[in-house]
Amino acid sequence: MRRLPLPPRRLGPLPEIPWPETDEILSSWVARSAAMYRTRPEVLLEQVGVIEHSPIILDRQATPADLESLAIAMHSSPQAIRQMSFAGQSHEALEFVAHRSPIWTCHRCATEFACRGLVQVRLRQWFVAVASWCRRCGGPLSRTRAGRTIREILARGDLCERHTFVSERLARAFDHERPVGAVTHAMRALAAPVPRDKKALYVARNRGRLPDWADRTPPLLWQLVGTSQLRGQAYEYRSWRPPANRPYAAWPYVGQIAATTGLTVLIEAGMAMWSILRDLGLVEPDDELVVRNIFVTSG
Ligand SMILES: [Zn+2]
Repeated sequence: MRRLPLPPRRLGPLPEIPWPETDEILSSWVARSAAMYRTRPEVLLEQVGVIEHSPIILDRQATPADLESLAIAMHSSPQAIRQMSFAGQSHEALEFVAHRSPIWTCHRCATEFACRGLVQVRLRQWFVAVASWCRRCGGPLSRTRAGRTIREILARGDLCERHTFVSERLARAFDHERPVGAVTHAMRALAAPVPRDKKALYVARNRGRLPDWADRTPPLLWQLVGTSQLRGQAYEYRSWRPPANRPYAAWPYVGQIAATTGLTVLIEAGMAMWSILRDLGLVEPDDELVVRNIFVTSG
């Protein structure tokens, strides 16, 4: 790669920038541009008048003003820059986006980049937890980190089908920026410990909908069909649950698969199970309808 001196601080287009790859994520492009000037991305961003100096934060929440400054510096348009990032996505949608390190890689694209000497390229799709396919070449994505046993479990059978079904529908909804808040509520509900709130339990029991196991410790996540195969993979599954402050993308893979599998059970179980979750205060009244629209109605 050519090395250029960084021009003095000024607003305006950079003299030269590398061509962005199809579906390249914004921070990757900024990092490669900075490398061209032998500097750090943070320095380059400051240099061109972008207020947010962290490329990782820009990937998720670039302001319109920063998109504008970047567009000028990078010879692009605010719209094109926005599409290279997750700016404008709802808080719930960002639960499916990884911070810092990508969850996936595409071996075909990564090999091609390496052959061309482009070692730093990262694609946007590699950060989407529910993605399956590479947007650039259409090939399958591979998990950057996953235990061999999980791969073996996933390579066959019902669990794999359920996980793929949910991931693909969810990825499509995500791509079209449809509201996915109901899905994140449902996944959190499955992973929540069944609450000990006496009133909620009393109401649910009176309606005859509380299952026998409701007051036991493991969350619903580990009590659903199919997840028994995963329990052995989850360290202390009885007490493991996603911490409230960690998004789905940061859950261990086994928890992610359990959540997608649980979601298919929830969809099949229909109204009764949703009512329990609603009585326990774990989902909103409209969530069932929204989830159905994403997973059942849309083809
Ligand atoms: Zn690819």
